[in-house]
Amino acid sequence: MRLTLLSLAVLGSLTLVSCKPVPKEQATKAFIKELHLHFNNLNNEGQARKDELRKADAKLGLITATGSIYSTYLFDENAFVVFDYRCKTCETKLIIYSAETQYLCPSCGHCPYVQHGANFNRKESPCKLCLGTDGKPKEPNPTLITKEAFEGAKASVKPMFELTQENTAKPLIATVRYVRRQWAYDTRGVVDISQKVVERASVDMNYIPTDAQGVGRAPGFHRLDSTFVGEMEFEYRSGDIAVRWRRPEEAVRPWKDLKGNQ
Ligand SMILES: [Zn+2]
Ligand SMILES: [Zn+2]
Repeated sequence: MRLTLLSLAVLGSLTLVSCKPVPKEQATKAFIKELHLHFNNLNNEGQARKDELRKADAKLGLITATGSIYSTYLFDENAFVVFDYRCKTCETKLIIYSAETQYLCPSCGHCPYVQHGANFNRKESPCKLCLGTDGKPKEPNPTLITKEAFEGAKASVKPMFELTQENTAKPLIATVRYVRRQWAYDTRGVVDISQKVVERASVDMNYIPTDAQGVGRAPGFHRLDSTFVGEMEFEYRSGDIAVRWRRPEEAVRPWKDLKGNQ
């Protein structure tokens, strides 16, 4: 009898534990994991689409239709997006995402985070102030690209993952901001960049969509067509995510291309 009572007591405490809501950190982590799965799925779909287009080329000798597109997505729960930031050199309004801080303004080709002196040569871009000792566009000073620095510059700073309902007794809700890049197939596009340009490039080489990262490929490749920032609200309920709403994506001005940086 005593044993039965004891077992019941143990059972009782176990039931209590399982009824307790999951800790916020644990639920948030699971929520973020699902969001990564969501964006990874979209990226895999994009890659499959690109592979499919290439396969037709190789097997049948067909040429991929000009303008055929696919998208890639970027989501980083620790990053933020800066809206309405004005370049300190040319005043152009820019959208900046902290996951990949760009070095040069797409409009004027100078560092958008520093004030240039009165007599600087605007036409020379990037100028000496923007270049490092190695001749490459200089990495911005980390203090100039913090959340606080952008907020101080009267820009609107929004996290890529913003939890808006965090009571774990109910489904979690978050606003998610992401970057979508659209790649368009250009039959006449040629990647004929010299090694020197590759070394000096201010963009990540992974964004240059060639199958073989090299010099002098044959015409035809997917080039970056446009970049968008999107905003969606997701709900996390019993291990699954669902979209509650989404806003129309906002176009980001394309950053200065490689040719312009030679
Ligand atoms: Zn500028
Ligand atoms: Zn400059």
